Amino acid sequence: MDGVRKQGIQFNEDDSPSDTYYGYLSEIERVQYKEGGPVVHSVQLELVPFEWMEAAVMNLGDSVRTLPPIAPVTLLAFDEAPLDEVAAALGTTAEGIAEGDWYVLTVPSKGGGLAAKRTKPVFGSPIVPMKARGRPVTGTRLGKLRRRYKPIGRIDLAKIIKMLLAMQPRKVGVMDVGQASCNLIYDANGVPQIYVDVGLPMFFNFASLPPVNGLGNVEVINPGPCLGNNPPGIVTHFHWDHYSMLGMSANFAALRNRDWIFPPQAAGPFVGGLIIAINATANGQVHIFPLGLGVLPGGYVNIIQCVPGAGVAPGDVNNTGLAVVVQLDTVNNRDMLLPGDAAFQSIPGVGALGNLRWMTATHHGSDTNLVPPPAPLLAPPIPAPYAANQGRLAYSYGVNGGVPGGVHCYGHPDAPAVAAYPVAGWGNPPDVASTAETGPNSGVNGRGNILMADNVAPPPCGVANCPFHVFPKSLL
Ligand SMILES: [Zn+2]
Ligand SMILES: [Zn+2]
Repeated sequence: MDGVRKQGIQFNEDDSPSDTYYGYLSEIERVQYKEGGPVVHSVQLELVPFEWMEAAVMNLGDSVRTLPPIAPVTLLAFDEAPLDEVAAALGTTAEGIAEGDWYVLTVPSKGGGLAAKRTKPVFGSPIVPMKARGRPVTGTRLGKLRRRYKPIGRIDLAKIIKMLLAMQPRKVGVMDVGQASCNLIYDANGVPQIYVDVGLPMFFNFASLPPVNGLGNVEVINPGPCLGNNPPGIVTHFHWDHYSMLGMSANFAALRNRDWIFPPQAAGPFVGGLIIAINATANGQVHIFPLGLGVLPGGYVNIIQCVPGAGVAPGDVNNTGLAVVVQLDTVNNRDMLLPGDAAFQSIPGVGALGNLRWMTATHHGSDTNLVPPPAPLLAPPIPAPYAANQGRLAYSYGVNGGVPGGVHCYGHPDAPAVAAYPVAGWGNPPDVASTAETGPNSGVNGRGNILMADNVAPPPCGVANCPFHVFPKSLL
């Protein structure tokens, strides 16, 4: 291992001396700003200098079974464009491009290439426009990258089950974090129990973050998420907007120093580095949800492995992660579903959940794989609440530049999805709220954290300016 680090270290800088990078395609997001309008895509990659990757990964024997050392990663996002144009710039086709692909890119490219932006994964870093192009990594080289970045499926199941069984969840905070997801499960006294996702926006959506406060802090980045009672966490899937507080918040070192339940998904260089960094802390440990377990029963906090359902491409990152069902009202047997970004048909058993009262709109209100219902589904696959029109629905999405007048990131929430939820029994006024404005696509200013199942804000944790003690909205 020492040898690996030494070989890597001589190139341990963000920039490649040859402008050549290995790029891990971490996310493809479908973007439609207006119903019926043009569809474009945001394609996002993690870049590692070619020389570093050759020395630390590619030139090593195939017997190495640990994750590669922490790589110098920068983020690159192509400007929103038709998918076939982005694919062409990467030497492939719209049918051939997928999340989890690896490419070799020239950044910046001289002559040719597609407009993109690059930055460090550090808040406040300059965002540099440029052109980039590349070609797919294939064959044995691709196989090697995939093998090396496959996290080892390690979990202390007894510890995790004991930890979940000890929880008495009574309310959930759906936090205003801009175009991202962060939910915190509390007990009856407002004491944090466990996080479900700790996301911040991708860099080009930073303008959707809550405004800078009187102390000059962007609260969700500085001081960072509430760590009162040291809650552990669950990451639903490996999209930046669901885990990036672990890399970018001011208190990330403390945030890493605890138990994390991660989905059994392929890692890229950034997540691979996070896993190493968490496991290197005194108390931090990454537990990979066991593939094939199906459901991890934890009393009132149950974790479900998603499996791509009707209309969903196999391997889709949103649909191969984790979803969480939490019982918030034990007297009346009422549950909340936290679907992450999964299509509902990708959450096994969701149709049999007969006691749902609270839910977050999946995938920030996207209509992908939801409306119109993909064959063979006859209706949008939204599960029914426990009684007709009794569902309480929270949206988490961001508006770049704020409301009114700002641009809804990726066009979320999509109007067809907003219309479909009430038809299924969810989110009829006043039982709907969104983090970015008063309600989904209301255009009315009134952002903030949403408290589900309660309206009593959690007591102060002692950290000045902690962002998760103010809840302008609640859905009982
Ligand atoms: Zn998301
Ligand atoms: Zn996602």
